[in-house]
Formats: sequence, C-alpha cells, structure tokens
Amino acid sequence: MALIVQKYGGTSVGTVERIQAVADKLIKTRDAGNEVVVVVSAMSGETNRLLGLAREITAHPEGRELDVLLSTGEQVTIALLSMALAEKGAEARSYTGAQVRITTDEAHNKARIKKIDHRCICDDLKQGRIVVVAGFQGVSENGHITTLGRGGSDTTAVALAAALKADECQIYTDVDGVYTTDPRVVPSARRLETITFEEMLEMASLGSKVLQIRAVEFAGKYNVPLRVLSSFEDGPGTLITTEEQQVEQALISGIAFNRDEAQLTITGVPDTPGVAYQILGPVSDANIEVDMIVQNIGSDGTTDFTFTVNRTDYDKALKILQKVAKELGARACSGNNEIVKISLVGVGMRSHAGIAAKMFKVLAAEGINLLMISTSEIKVSVLVEEKYLELGVRVLHSAFGLENETAA
Ligand code: ASP
Ligand code: MG
Repeated sequence: MALIVQKYGGTSVGTVERIQAVADKLIKTRDAGNEVVVVVSAMSGETNRLLGLAREITAHPEGRELDVLLSTGEQVTIALLSMALAEKGAEARSYTGAQVRITTDEAHNKARIKKIDHRCICDDLKQGRIVVVAGFQGVSENGHITTLGRGGSDTTAVALAAALKADECQIYTDVDGVYTTDPRVVPSARRLETITFEEMLEMASLGSKVLQIRAVEFAGKYNVPLRVLSSFEDGPGTLITTEEQQVEQALISGIAFNRDEAQLTITGVPDTPGVAYQILGPVSDANIEVDMIVQNIGSDGTTDFTFTVNRTDYDKALKILQKVAKELGARACSGNNEIVKISLVGVGMRSHAGIAAKMFKVLAAEGINLLMISTSEIKVSVLVEEKYLELGVRVLHSAFGLENETAA
C-alpha cells in the first residue's frame, strides 16, 4: 500500500463541480489501494478577493489579522471537499493547519514550517479515511494563525509528504507539467519529463510559478518525489527528482524569468570593512529579501553597490537605502523598478563552458542591454529592461534549441 499526498490548487477546486471531480479522483486513488492525504488551496480568486477586502479598509493590514483573514479561504475548501467525499460514500475528515498542528514561526504572511504533529492523520488513515488538510496555513507556538506566503499550499503538501514519509507528492494544477519556459511567451515551449530539484528550485525562484519555492526546497531536502500534473487531463506530468534518476540529459533545461524585479543602487560609499553589512543589514532587518548583489570599487577609493529586491518591496527598500545613504555619506542613491530578470537553467552547464557567452551574444544581436549579470553552477541570469522580456526569452529559447526533442 502506498501513501500518496495530493495537492489541488485554486483552479482545481474553483467551483462546486470541480470539487466534486477532485473527490472522484481521490476516491479512484484510494480504490487503487493507496492511503490518501489531500491538501487544497482556496477556490481560485478567493485569496485575492480577501486581500482586496482588507485593502478596502487599510493600505497596510497588520500581518496577524491578514493571516486570520486569508486562512479562511482554505477552510472553506476543506469542508466542501470532505462533504463531497462523504456524499460519494467515502469517509473523510478535514483539518485546518492549526488542527494538524502545522507549527510555524511567527513571520506572518511568510511563515516557515517548523514541525508537524501528524498523529491524528495517521490514525485517520488507519481507519480508512481520506484526510483533507488546509494548505497555506499553520499556527505559531503562541497559537497565532499564520500563512506561508502566496502559493503556500504546495509547501504544506510537501511538508506533509515529508513528515508522513509519503511515496509521492503529487501537485495537481492547471498546467500539465513543468515547461522549458512559459508557453504564453513561447508557444513552442515543451513539457519536461523530469527535472532535478536543483533546476526546479532555480526555475521556481526565478519566477516560474508552477510550484512555490519553499515546496521545492523542502522536497529536495527530504528527497520527496514530487510530480506536477494536470487536474483536467490525464498524463504523466513532470517528475522532479535527483540528478541520478533523471532520464533527459539536456544542457539547458529551461528559461525562467521574473517580472517582479527592482534594482537599487547606492554610489560613492566609503570603501571600508563592514559597509556591505551596514547597507544590507537594515534591509534584511525589514524582512526584505535581497537577490542579486554587485559591488564594485570606483577609481576614487569609494565603492558602488547595486542589489535587487522583489518589486513589492521596492518602496520600502528605497526608503531604507536613502536613510543609510545619509548615514554613510554616500554620493547618491537611486532605483529602477521597470526591469526583469531572464535566466538560463541547466545542470548540464556544470560540465560545459561557453553557455554564458552564447547567451550574451544572442541577446546582443537583438540590441538588448544587460544591466546586471549573475551566475551560479547551474544558472546564468541577466537583468534587462522590462520591454525586452518577451523578445529575450524567445530568442534564447530558440538559440538553445529548447523546442526540439533533442535539446541543444
Ligand atoms: N490560497 C493561497 C494563494 O492563493 C495559497 C495557495 O493557493 O497555495 O496564494
Ligand atoms: Mg497555487
């Protein structure tokens, strides 16, 4: 008997009919001889609707109250799904995050899971029940409701799969797998059979919205086999796994991009030890994640510092930086929030030189200027002006032969 954790996203539970269809799928999985735990998101649009209500009241809702509000979306779907299962003759039980004691830290709106007490789930499974758990939410040690950040239901599913030592964690969504890039930008993008955790992590962190980043981190760390599948059509989906188990050996697996970028620059800072910390310390204290960082020494003995943050944190980060600039006696401080990041991702580049050079050549041929570059073992990222996003992704996808079965 296998233990399967399935997760259904907002679109998959977007209407009563779809919830009933999910119930059928669950019963089919159980009847095939599996134990089944299911994690659901809020009905599509619901989290945004709740956010909208909050914003009608205040521009800056308090994190704690926002979590109390947003967690209601998932509570609706677990109850409806359990009713649908019961109606079809399957025993089921729903649980909120707090009820299964998904314990998190207290970082409201982006909490991290610390531990899961899965005893009640195991008891229910033993009794032959299908267990329905609310995604996206947990509870802090002090009993406050928390949420895990947008898309957090994926993380709930993987964390549960890890805690229960499930055989597979299946993420059902509105796409049928992970693609070489977003098919809305490049219609010839192709579905990948497999992708490594590492690559998927890069794709997700770079804006490929198929899975939440933390879910992939979790899955990689605990080696949870993770499969992305369509709720609406049958198919193998994409299996996210370790490099050893990967069947395809392409040089580049995909092209990711992120529209939510903003760049901040502080120039003419004294070039002394501790300056990087003085600049980035206050930014990180404000819970703002910094992504790319470039520091370069000027000819006059001062240093320039550029970094990127999520666009939603741009205003906040700029204010902090203006204050820091004054304190450090910097020459100037500026920002740009009309930029995007495009990245090539592939474990194959570990053993191949010249990938970055080819990327720069292809973009240069289109007259696209590179504002910042960063690399890792399996990725090359460039920051470009927003207007070049589609063009950049298209020419790279074709230059690296991603639409063909025999990738470059
Ligand atoms: N309902 C939450 C969201 O819209 C969590 C999720 O769907 O995974 O972000
Ligand atoms: Mg989602």
